[in-house]
Amino acid sequence: MSMLRAGVWDLLLGVQCAGCGCPGLTWCRECERLVVPDPFEVETGVWASGEWRGRLRAAILAWKLGHVAHLDHLFAWHLAAAIVALNPPDSFVLVPVPSTWRSRRERGRHLVGDVCREVVDLLEQQGLTVHVEHAVKLARQTKDQSGLSARDRAGNVRGSMVLRRFVSKPVVIVDDIVTTGSTVSEMKRVLMGGGVEVVSCVSIAASSPHLNDFSR
Ligand SMILES: [Zn+2]
Repeated sequence: MSMLRAGVWDLLLGVQCAGCGCPGLTWCRECERLVVPDPFEVETGVWASGEWRGRLRAAILAWKLGHVAHLDHLFAWHLAAAIVALNPPDSFVLVPVPSTWRSRRERGRHLVGDVCREVVDLLEQQGLTVHVEHAVKLARQTKDQSGLSARDRAGNVRGSMVLRRFVSKPVVIVDDIVTTGSTVSEMKRVLMGGGVEVVSCVSIAASSPHLNDFSR
């Protein structure tokens, strides 16, 4: 659905902006102006398009709850900007963090995987050769990370993933939010353990100040 078409539906249905809560549009002009990519390196090899706070945080939460699928375009733009900022090689592969069964059931899709397809389109317009591979899968289901301490998050994901297939090109790991870094660290461990070259990890948003458990 185009942003324009989505806007018409929003007016008809009387919804709120996902970023600021104002009535009328699921994504208002003010948020469109303010929530723009501002990539930064969270930790060596870990990039985010913005900080996990304010309008960006609210929009990601609404998107994860499944109410505003058209924000895929916005977050694809954010991820593409963060990937360009980390100065990737000319040819590489995006590997999204696998989603749990619970998440897929609740949301009806794999959010990050779906957005990665749009990220590919944007990066190809920049002359890069990119494709998406779901190269890592869950070996077991994990608990919802929200509400867990940094230590519990690390324990929750440790040993939870396995390499589904080897990737011969350099890889950029993609997640929606980086908080403690435990998920992307586990992804990195699994990929590198299988001989895959990991260039970097990117997310739409990262909490700051970030933490110290990006095991390398
Ligand atoms: Zn707004």
